[in-house]
Amino acid sequence: VKIERPRGTRDFLPDEMERRRAIEAVMRRIAESYGYREIATPTFEHLELFTIKSGEGIIEEMYAFKDKGGRDLALRPELTAPVVRLFVNECSVMPKPLRFYYFANCFRYERPQKGRYREFWQFGVELIGSSSYLADAEVITLAYRIMEELKLDFELHIGHVGLLRHLLRDVEEEKAAIVMRLIDKKDVEGLIKHLEEIKAPQDLSEAILSLIELSGGRDVLKDASELTGFDIGHMEKLCDVLDSMGVEYTIDLGIARGLDYYTGVVFEAYAEGLGAQNQICGGGSYRLAHLFGGEDVPSTGFALGFDRIVEICKLTPEEKTVVVVANVGLENEAFKLADLLRRHGICAITDVMERSLKRQLSFANDVNARFAVIIGKKEIESGRYTVKDMASGESLQLEFDSLLEYLSSNIKYKKS
Ligand code: ATP
Ligand code: MG
Repeated sequence: VKIERPRGTRDFLPDEMERRRAIEAVMRRIAESYGYREIATPTFEHLELFTIKSGEGIIEEMYAFKDKGGRDLALRPELTAPVVRLFVNECSVMPKPLRFYYFANCFRYERPQKGRYREFWQFGVELIGSSSYLADAEVITLAYRIMEELKLDFELHIGHVGLLRHLLRDVEEEKAAIVMRLIDKKDVEGLIKHLEEIKAPQDLSEAILSLIELSGGRDVLKDASELTGFDIGHMEKLCDVLDSMGVEYTIDLGIARGLDYYTGVVFEAYAEGLGAQNQICGGGSYRLAHLFGGEDVPSTGFALGFDRIVEICKLTPEEKTVVVVANVGLENEAFKLADLLRRHGICAITDVMERSLKRQLSFANDVNARFAVIIGKKEIESGRYTVKDMASGESLQLEFDSLLEYLSSNIKYKKS
């Protein structure tokens, strides 16, 4: 029987992993340049962590199970709730604000399709402790700089769920949550039907339907304010900062976000080249800590859909240069030389198949080695190694120091 991998999961081969790591490195570098530091949380958590406030959509997609002790657990569908739990458990007395980032796999029981997997990765940040427009500005700029650096063709949309929530203030929480979910899914027909079902007053329905259509430059904020009576001062100040930073965006009051915990500014980024699954980033400001037994601390964060970004990102990782150390009956010498080269930052591989020189060189070709260093009796006696340029076929005889210099100057190698 051949065992296949589970539906909605993927295997990654080395070329793909190198690409993924290169993209991940850009995300880490930029997040760290803003003073964010990495944290990690468990792959599974108590189910409750995700059912308290994440919203119906997430709950339906959850990989939940009972362990042998009868505990209800779930594979994490996202990282914001775990990070806030960590904050409440471990860091609530640390000086605020706290700047955390994570890169981790998430699990959702979804119908697999392009850009939608059952195991996928998110890169995200959480800025904990501030409800200022400056916190929103920092987090949005950070997400923007990452997408910009990765040369993605994307559009950033920014909204504020406060306006919708303000309109819905007299609607029961559960019914309001359904309204938010339908807006998030852009299901206008379903929304109209639901508003009728919950007997929403005519003027409320009209205001909601007009509000979610509002999108464009920052001047639509005034219309939104007139429509809802909501103070848009926070948004105006946020836009001032973003404008001064050269961050380009569309104001979009139709953003509701699928997760129930958002309370303020929300944003999403959409990219070209992905088809229906075009959302590559989602974030906003929220309050969760008090629901997990902590004080009521405001936070802002985002999650980048790493797999969707990998799909469209053109970044190609620097090619690793390989040196094959081949030998003729001198395996130990080959091992020793390769070891020395590696200590000098050169990637060296040796024969482990007990092959003939000819087949070792042909393998060097197979793995695209840049050079082959050959060790035979002659080389040991003369103290000079034969180094063959695999591209040109030319050979040189060099002593160890010159060999090292020659390889190093021809190889882009990383010394950590
Ligand atoms: P969608 O509307 O596409 O389902 P979402 O609103 O559920 O996205 P979030 O919970 O905001 O997504 O997660 C942040 C990002 O993670 C998304 O913008 C998306 O890029 C990515 N993402 C979400 N679900 C998946 C999945 N099943 N496979 C791959 N990437 C995903
Ligand atoms: Mg989803």
